[in-house]
Amino acid sequence: MLKKLASLLFIFVLALPLQAQQPKKLNASQIHDAVKKLNFLGTVLYVAAHPDDENTRLISYMSNQVKARTAYLSLTRGDGGQNLIGPEIRELLGVIRTQELLAARSVDGGEQRFTRANDFGYSKHPEETLNIWDKDQVLSDVILAIRQFKPDIIINRFDHRTPGTTHGHHTTSAMLSVEAFDLANNPNIYPEQAKTHGTWQPKRQFFNTSWWFYGSEENFEKADKSKLLNFDIGVYYPSKGLSNNEIAALSRSKHLCQGFGALTQRGSQTEYIELINGDLPKDKTNLFEGIDTSWNRVKGGKTIGDILKKVETNFNFENPSIHVKDLLLARQLIQQLDNDYWKNYKTQEIDAIIEACLGLYLEASASTPTASAGETITLNIEAVNRSPINMELVSYQLSTDKTATLKALPLKNNDKQNVEQSLTIPKNIQPSSPYWLNKKGTLGMYKVEDKNLIGKPETPRPISVTFNVTINNQPFSVTKPIVYRYSKPDKGELYRPFEIIPEASAKISEKVIIFDSDQQKDISVIVKAGRDNLNGFVQIAHPNNWSVFPEKQNIDIKYKGETQTLTFTVIPPKNQNEGLITPMVHVGEDVYTRELVEIDYEHIPYQTVVLPSESKVVRLDIKKRGENIAYIEGAGDVVPESLRQIGYNVIVLNPEDITTERLSAFDAVVVGIRAYNILDELKFKQQILFDFVENGGNMIVQYNTSHRLKVDQLSPYTLQLSRDRVTDENAEVTLLEKDHPVLNYPNQITKTDFEGWTQERGLYFPNQWSNKFTPILSMHDKGETEKQGSLLVAKHGKGYYIYTGLSFFREFPAGVSGAYRLFANMLSIGKDNLDNKEQFKD
Ligand SMILES: [Zn+2]
Repeated sequence: MLKKLASLLFIFVLALPLQAQQPKKLNASQIHDAVKKLNFLGTVLYVAAHPDDENTRLISYMSNQVKARTAYLSLTRGDGGQNLIGPEIRELLGVIRTQELLAARSVDGGEQRFTRANDFGYSKHPEETLNIWDKDQVLSDVILAIRQFKPDIIINRFDHRTPGTTHGHHTTSAMLSVEAFDLANNPNIYPEQAKTHGTWQPKRQFFNTSWWFYGSEENFEKADKSKLLNFDIGVYYPSKGLSNNEIAALSRSKHLCQGFGALTQRGSQTEYIELINGDLPKDKTNLFEGIDTSWNRVKGGKTIGDILKKVETNFNFENPSIHVKDLLLARQLIQQLDNDYWKNYKTQEIDAIIEACLGLYLEASASTPTASAGETITLNIEAVNRSPINMELVSYQLSTDKTATLKALPLKNNDKQNVEQSLTIPKNIQPSSPYWLNKKGTLGMYKVEDKNLIGKPETPRPISVTFNVTINNQPFSVTKPIVYRYSKPDKGELYRPFEIIPEASAKISEKVIIFDSDQQKDISVIVKAGRDNLNGFVQIAHPNNWSVFPEKQNIDIKYKGETQTLTFTVIPPKNQNEGLITPMVHVGEDVYTRELVEIDYEHIPYQTVVLPSESKVVRLDIKKRGENIAYIEGAGDVVPESLRQIGYNVIVLNPEDITTERLSAFDAVVVGIRAYNILDELKFKQQILFDFVENGGNMIVQYNTSHRLKVDQLSPYTLQLSRDRVTDENAEVTLLEKDHPVLNYPNQITKTDFEGWTQERGLYFPNQWSNKFTPILSMHDKGETEKQGSLLVAKHGKGYYIYTGLSFFREFPAGVSGAYRLFANMLSIGKDNLDNKEQFKD
């Protein structure tokens, strides 16, 4: 089923920007392109580490110009990146980036694969990467991709010979790809896997080099290119009305959460690949040299090739249905091939072509976008043949039901048949959530229990319908996933995947709840019904030394999709402590402990994700001074909400609102991450901010990158940003200035406060600064020199300017208590006279 979908995706190239989820229908020109591709028997696998690493120019060229079956193997799903379009981070970001890759492939014509490796964040060296990934599992998944996909050619995005020069994940992807090149052909390596999928020896392996890897264009000009092949990836495709590089840009622009929306490009451009395994082709533009990529490649293929070449050459753009007879004949011969790989793959391709030649429209749409186990819904089944060929719908069959429904309806030219069919969702069906998130994995690996799912881009759709038709009395079947089709007056027709959701789900409104004293707090629990008339009760699971009351509360929700909010009171222990709390929804015999997350963006299909529902509760031992904080938002972080949780009054200020008068109401200004990379207006506001500090305010600036800074002067004193970062979240921290107020007032900071940090210590630390700054901390990654720029404090006039690359934006949402205590000190510095001020008030 999923295989079929994948094949449809890659054939349905370039039906331009429809909504990502709308089933695409091929026009005559696209059918002709698909026939040409059908007549090419060669495969290319492109290998890198993250969504957006892939060179879409080359993938599009291989798929559309060379016409090879082309796939991108991304080792990870990109969980560790940042999100420029919404609040999703970590595994939810990985879900978005997975879908963005699929959307990119539907534009450039490639297919998509993954391994179980998790993008745990930045790593400097492959050695560090392989300490966190399970090398054996990732290698096994790379070999699996090779054994299943059987590439003639492998192209690595990165150089396996230069560890330490780029992200450790990048080099590792190339190293594992090189290691797998020969191992995939050894039956003793992962023998079970070899038994199921066979072994495979790729013919050649390349590294997708460019001048960038040589340091400069001049160096590249001079370099020895005897092992390099090259392609003009700017070639124009008249059948598409687009150049290859235009398609590549449209594909790359799907990576919206990474901010990759970009202009299209045209004109001749050369792309290079360097041979690293296999023999060097004489023709430096033919990476398939010596491989027969015609139908003669397979035993029994010649006749098929003869038939299909005729279809390609004599293609009738006015009436493609005249080719159906020949296509069906070729299809029959394909069924007789001994070679299972080509038999299966070419069957999928030719089926999609036959369907398109018939103008055949087959759809099963549900009356509702979601349903839960046991629910009965209505399917609207639509079938219409838009060709003069004699057809009949003999029967259709739901994937949940063994017996086919007999209909025997004639499918006359353009005479639509509509059938209503009721569907009861099986009791034992699982929610249609991303399969790699079903079980808790490790920092470096997803846990996938069902071996058949490993490598697949997404969870196979839960329920499909197979249409059994006859074409001129010959049987033919088409399988379609159930969809949900609806319209909005301001959007037009829309599609959503039909999904299975749990009958009840619940979440606590905050993921981290900070208690800055032993005062109790109320929490909201939101229960969502996955079916009508949901009754039961909710309890909160919590650690022993915490209390929650009442012990249980009833729920009574009338309609599916509706929510009910319950308030529980949480009492923290007296001393610093942390733990997890989980809502448990009891319905009859069943207990539901998961939450339903919905992800809705226009450029990818609607996603429902079912995750363990848990919130972290933290009893903090924290003191603070100052009260009113102005926050200037940068690329987006949850620091304002986090500071509110510990009792600060935080107002988010737009850059235009930064005036001396406005600032006078605040004790401190905090600048959000990368604000100086994003907000042009800040260059006009720096002096106002520095004056604020001079007059006694505190200013805390979080990390920015030196690339594309919008201001000349980040701070009142010299400060030079670098790319220094400490990626090991457990790297030892040395307190350089034990007596400095920022480490002592009002909270005494010790090494304990640097325990339990997550993902990294910090990034883009300054490496040069004026002697007005005091470096407070020192830390470094394994094998590197001390980095002292993570926290720099300068007294400026009556106030303090603080620059910090420490990753508070990651630690706060994870409820890391030491990060809160240190930040409270940064806000409180110099405010020790506040108590006096209070006295004056009396
Ligand atoms: Zn990358």
